[in-house]
Amino acid sequence: MEDDYFARLDRERIEKLRTAEAAQAEAEAREAARALHHHKCGKCGSSMDTHLHRGVQVEVCPQCGAVLLDKGELETLAGEDKSGALAGILSIFRK
Ligand SMILES: [Zn+2]
Repeated sequence: MEDDYFARLDRERIEKLRTAEAAQAEAEAREAARALHHHKCGKCGSSMDTHLHRGVQVEVCPQCGAVLLDKGELETLAGEDKSGALAGILSIFRK
């Protein structure tokens, strides 16, 4: 009986250790992915160029022309856009 108790404790301890290791591995994988993809185009993988446009940092891919904006930057640009085209894009996120 006592052996069972300690065996169970061991199993729980090992299980906790495995969970912690898995979380650690996941965090490391996320960090590696960030290092690998940071400042890279999500479409073609080229390094993005940063342009300052009306106080907003816009990442533009020199290869395929993809544009990357941070959260809030689209709102900032849409506020200056009289045609309403950017506001139209914003509405995608408000559904
Ligand atoms: Zn690209």
